Amino acid sequence: MTFERHKVNKRVLQDLKKRSTFGIFFYMILALIIVLDNNYYQKHLFFSVLFLVSMLGVSLFRLVHMSVSEKMGERYETLNRNIFYISVIASALVWGMAFAAIMIQKDEYAVQLLMPVLICGLCAGGVVAFIPNRKLAIIYNLSMLMPGAVPMLVSKSNTTLAILIILFSVYLMIITYRGNREYWDALENEHLLELKSQELALLSNTDVLTGLYNRRFFDQALDLEWKRSGRNQSILSVIIFDIDHFKNINDTFGHQAGDDFLTNTAATLSAVFKRDYDIVARYGGEEFIVLLPGTNAEQAMQLAEQARQNIEFLILYHQGKKFATTISAGIMCSVADFNTRPDDIVACADKALYHAKQTGRNKIVVFPSMSAENDAPESPASGLA
Ligand code: GH3
Ligand code: MG
Ligand code: MG
Repeated sequence: MTFERHKVNKRVLQDLKKRSTFGIFFYMILALIIVLDNNYYQKHLFFSVLFLVSMLGVSLFRLVHMSVSEKMGERYETLNRNIFYISVIASALVWGMAFAAIMIQKDEYAVQLLMPVLICGLCAGGVVAFIPNRKLAIIYNLSMLMPGAVPMLVSKSNTTLAILIILFSVYLMIITYRGNREYWDALENEHLLELKSQELALLSNTDVLTGLYNRRFFDQALDLEWKRSGRNQSILSVIIFDIDHFKNINDTFGHQAGDDFLTNTAATLSAVFKRDYDIVARYGGEEFIVLLPGTNAEQAMQLAEQARQNIEFLILYHQGKKFATTISAGIMCSVADFNTRPDDIVACADKALYHAKQTGRNKIVVFPSMSAENDAPESPASGLA
């Protein structure tokens, strides 16, 4: 199985606890019924008190440990797990010993009829509860049934009953093996399903060609950051990049070369906008959008300029021929207020980008100045070969 051991152990222990909590209360009630039946306790006072006190002690210990272990944290996980196993076995042994003691008592036919029925029922319930842990289920089974069955078999005092109980114990072991396999299969399926849904969530946020976030994810992120900006009155910048004359690359060198340029542009932008909370997304065909929380226009301009220069120097090859082009960008920087929506900030960045295109390309324009902040000469999208 491929999934994390630590996580699985924790999950299985939780399941074991959940499955066995009810049993703790039943143990007490059933122990009481046994000793009160036909005033059994009057004839065997010492044994009855010992049985009830042991049962109560183990049950209380298990209940207290359950609530304390919740608060003890992961450092004590192994210790808590072992205490849980030991306390479960202890409760099975108390029943097993009581069973053995009752079966050797003289003239106690009523309780000797009740006890095997009760112990088999309890053992079956416990085994099903502890199925997630095969070893625990088997030790529980043996601790409960064997202390009574083995002496009966050896002393030949009640051979038939002893054989029936031993067969029942074997039957429960078979059930344990099958149930345990089904439990782990179900756990693995659940894990695979979880991985698949994580994968799907990632895919639905990712652009397949470039590996960047897609527009859907960007829109969600912008929405959240816009709200945060409103709450904290913090500044937020959005930059839209559009590759210049990209169509020429496709037309001259083919779609594959175009795709190559897109992936290289994506990598270039990711390398420039690399803070954890910067979001670089593919917004459309050859458009990219960047969300920069806590970044003012000047800082955004510097970063965009860095990206523009890096793209300007980006030279790719297709069938031995060089090709290159430039990129233009529009920037909008703002603090969220009640009069605007997240879409407005994108629309303004788009207007600035349009202005950059209109005034020569290979440049960055900040809204609302609409002044070309960079007047690098436009180089036509071209094969440089
Ligand atoms: P401008 O400088 O004005 O932005 O011109 P442009 O040629 O870059 O812009 P235009 O909108 O005329 O062309 C964009 C081209 O991008 C057209 C489209 O075929 C291409 N395109 C869109 N998505 C992809 C893609 O995934 N792969 C490739 N290879 N090309 C794409
Ligand atoms: Mg475009
Ligand atoms: Mg373009």
